[in-house]
Amino acid sequence: MKKKIKNKNILIFNQEVSYYSAAAKPSDFPDINVPEVCFAGKSNVGKSSLINAICNRRSLARTSNTPGRTQIIHFYNVQNKLLMSDLPGYGYAKASKDKIKNWTKLIENYFINRKNLFRVFLLIDSRRGIKNNDQTLMHLLNTIGVNFQCILTKSDKVTENFLINIYNETKLQIKNYASAYPEIIVSSSKKNIGIDKMHICLNLIANINESKNND
Ligand code: GDP
Repeated sequence: MKKKIKNKNILIFNQEVSYYSAAAKPSDFPDINVPEVCFAGKSNVGKSSLINAICNRRSLARTSNTPGRTQIIHFYNVQNKLLMSDLPGYGYAKASKDKIKNWTKLIENYFINRKNLFRVFLLIDSRRGIKNNDQTLMHLLNTIGVNFQCILTKSDKVTENFLINIYNETKLQIKNYASAYPEIIVSSSKKNIGIDKMHICLNLIANINESKNND
């Protein structure tokens, strides 16, 4: 007799991902009961490019060379199975004090209030490694108790040896944080590196919810 597969893995990125909404303040956060992941990092770290590569779309998330412009969280709905959010980038040198204050308030609210938030993908530029403002964010996530996973972006821009050093250094630094996911993902949106790993990761998170619903 054929065994019925109970929790069939859903490959959520087989179909198109749609833009869902944007939030400039907590009251704009979407009310949808699916697991959520978030992408965070410094301006220009390659966040929009990574989201586009994951979703196999050219311009779902806006890529630009003018960092620090938006103070808005963008949400993407992956087949009603997963919500992905794109936080405004930080660390833009020319950002005013007011802008930094607003950013901090918005993201603190976000991390505290999103009850389905499963994991924060914290993007780190492979050329630069973890910087002070990344540490500040890690500290905040650790204090609130939100899990995060580091992604080393733009790996095509560095040599293999450089990448190994940055990888090891990153690994050492995240050991200080209980909320840090031990595995670091190396990515390049340009060369399509690490995108398959991201898909596996995101599929797993979406399917965790599926299995809960099927129990
Ligand atoms: P964001 O500000 O974090 O959303 O960064 P973007 O995705 O807009 O990327 C900033 C710049 O870096 C753009 O010029 C991208 O073309 C470039 N970029 C992003 N990802 C990669 C990558 O994996 N490799 C290379 N070489 N360039 C990248």
